[in-house]
Amino acid sequence: MSAMDRHEQAYTYCAFCPKLCRFSCPVSEATHTESLSTWGKMTAAHLVATGKRELDDSTARAVHACTGCGRCKSFCKHENTVGPALFAVREQTVKSGNQPKGAASTLSTFTQAQNPFGPELAALVASWRSETPVRYPLFPGCSSLVKAPQLIEDTIVVSKAFGAPMGVSRMASRCCGYPLYAAGSHDAFRDHARANAAALESVPELAVLDPGCAYTFKVVYPEFGVQLKTNVRTVVEVLEENLSHAPQKPELPETVGYHDACHLGRGLGQYDQPRKLLSRAVFAVHEAASIRSEGGCSGGGGLLPRTMPEVAVEVARRQAMEVAPEQDIKVVTACPTSKRMFERAGKKSYDLMALLRRWVES
Ligand code: SF4
Ligand code: SF4
Repeated sequence: MSAMDRHEQAYTYCAFCPKLCRFSCPVSEATHTESLSTWGKMTAAHLVATGKRELDDSTARAVHACTGCGRCKSFCKHENTVGPALFAVREQTVKSGNQPKGAASTLSTFTQAQNPFGPELAALVASWRSETPVRYPLFPGCSSLVKAPQLIEDTIVVSKAFGAPMGVSRMASRCCGYPLYAAGSHDAFRDHARANAAALESVPELAVLDPGCAYTFKVVYPEFGVQLKTNVRTVVEVLEENLSHAPQKPELPETVGYHDACHLGRGLGQYDQPRKLLSRAVFAVHEAASIRSEGGCSGGGGLLPRTMPEVAVEVARRQAMEVAPEQDIKVVTACPTSKRMFERAGKKSYDLMALLRRWVES
C-alpha cells in the first residue's frame, strides 16, 4: 500500500465537494489561483491516485503549494485532513524525480547534515551547557539553535523566573525530522523518527520550544507508527502551568496582536495557554477577525518558504495585516518560524518568550 492509498477517501471527498472551504486556504488566497485552492490541489491528487492524470511538473508544484496549516479542515464538514494527504503525493514526486527544486535541496542538506540548515547541531547544543540545576530538559528545535539563539536565552531566563528552570537537553542535537516529512521523504522520516525514539528512551520528559517539533513528536510520529515514551510538552504549556510562580509585575503598557501558530493551535489545541501568559504580561491583546481553529497562517510550514518563497512571504504579509492592522500593534507569536516569516514580510514581530522576558525583567 502506498502512502497515497491511505488518503484515497480524502482525495475523493474533495474532488466531489462543492468547494465549501474555498476561502480558507492561505496559499490560494495569496495567489488568487483556483488550481491552488484546497479543492484544486486535492482534485489533482485524486486524478493522479485514480490514474487519470500523470504526476507532471505542474501537479508536483501544486501539491507543494500547501503549508499543512490545517485551516481548511476547520471549515470542512468531513473534517478532511488535507495537509498529510498532499504530503503523501510529495512522496511520489521524490520517486518520479519531479520534486520542486526547493524541496529537493532541503532533502539534500538534510541527508548530509541530519538537519535542514547544515551546521552541526551537537556543537551548538554543547555551547548551552547549564551551570545550575534545571527542572526541565529543553528541546529548542534546530531553527532556534541555528537562526535564533537569543530565543533560547529568553526561554531560559523566563523559565527560571517562573520557578521552572529549563536547560538545553543534549537530545536537542537531533532534528525532529519534520523537513523529511514535508519534503515527502517518508521512509527516511520513519527511520529518523525510530532512531529518535530509541535515543529518547531514557528521557522521561522534554519541554519543546518550537511548536512544529512538538507537533511532529506528538502527532506525526504516531501516524508513522512511532510512539515516544517521553512526555513531550510545549514550553508554553509548561510556563502556563507555572504561571502562579511568575513574578508579580505590572503589565507592560502595550497592545499586541496574537498569531495562533498552526502547529501550536490547530495542531496541538493550545489556544488558551499563550493567551493566559500574554494577558499577564501586557495591557491588551488584540484579537484578529479569524482566530483559534479558524486563525490564519504565516506561510512558514510545509516547506513553502523553500518551494514558493514569494508566495510564502505574501501569506505572511496578509496574516500580519490581519493580526496587527495598526502600526502601533505588534505581532506576537509563539512560533519562531512564524516570527521570521512576519519579519520577511516587513512586519516587526516578537516571539512570546522575548516579550515575557521583557516583562519579568521590567
Ligand atoms: S477540505 Fe472539505 S470542504 Fe474543503 S474541498 Fe475538501 S471536502 Fe470540501
Ligand atoms: S492545509 Fe492549509 S495550505 Fe494546505 S490546503 Fe489546507 S488550508 Fe491550504
